[in-house]
Amino acid sequence: MTAIRIADRAAARRSIQGLSLGDAFGERWFPLFREPVRAAAEIRSRTLPAEPDWHWTDDTAMALAVLRVLDEHGEIDQDRLAACFALAHDADAGRGYGHGMHVLLPALLPAPGDWRTLAPTLFEGGSLGNGAAMRVAPLGAWFAADLDLVARQARLSAEVTHAHPEGVAGAVAVAVAAALSVRGELGLARLAALTPEGEVRDGLLRAAEVPFDTAPWRAADLLGNGQRIRAADTVPFAVWTAVRHAGDLVEALWATAEGLGDVDTTCAITGGIVGAATGVDRVPAAWLRRREPLGGSWD
Ligand SMILES: [Mg+2]
Repeated sequence: MTAIRIADRAAARRSIQGLSLGDAFGERWFPLFREPVRAAAEIRSRTLPAEPDWHWTDDTAMALAVLRVLDEHGEIDQDRLAACFALAHDADAGRGYGHGMHVLLPALLPAPGDWRTLAPTLFEGGSLGNGAAMRVAPLGAWFAADLDLVARQARLSAEVTHAHPEGVAGAVAVAVAAALSVRGELGLARLAALTPEGEVRDGLLRAAEVPFDTAPWRAADLLGNGQRIRAADTVPFAVWTAVRHAGDLVEALWATAEGLGDVDTTCAITGGIVGAATGVDRVPAAWLRRREPLGGSWD
């Protein structure tokens, strides 16, 4: 197979930087670090988490694996992606992976091609979780010049772990959102039209009806904040805040954090989409020095 020649590596780099910043920032608001009342008060008052090191989690680890495959092959090679996910999990399983990945990824380590039989039997009908959506924004940025290609590559990247149509649709939606962000064309109705039919798309259509003067916590109440860890419960709100604050990564992340819930993942999605356009150049140094480095050429 010939590698696909479209590659906006600079946009993908901006996106992974935004994604990892959102992931590491969002993780700080979990009850493990702050009980919810304190978290909500600090987010409202825009009090930056004082800890010197914000570690990124599985969202970033898996996004880096996606980028590794794109760097090696120029497109998604599913067996190689399964291997890279398994290797990342094996290298550091303590990154906050969900239960399904703790079951699936060790089984893929000796036999990456087994994703074909194992992923569809994960949960009933395959995972419809938000894990394929949380890692895919840089892929959307990479292929931003061709939206059909973005959708096809996002689907391939999702199927390795998330066989359920809603898990796939979440990934397609976030990748296309990142591509539209790079192109300066991000909008909820447009994105919904480019997302496969189902609950994720229905959620995006509902999000398109939520006015931007709505408080983010209220929007999260209406659209879901990832608490159910499903793509359809996660993606619409994360995209809504991305559109609300396109062009301002820091305010986008604060607004997303206001929704709490699966907040590392909602912030990773928002950060990957907004960051694909803005990068992190205007993010205060106090944020950037706290985020754990990515390593390699992505920092
Ligand atoms: Mg995570």
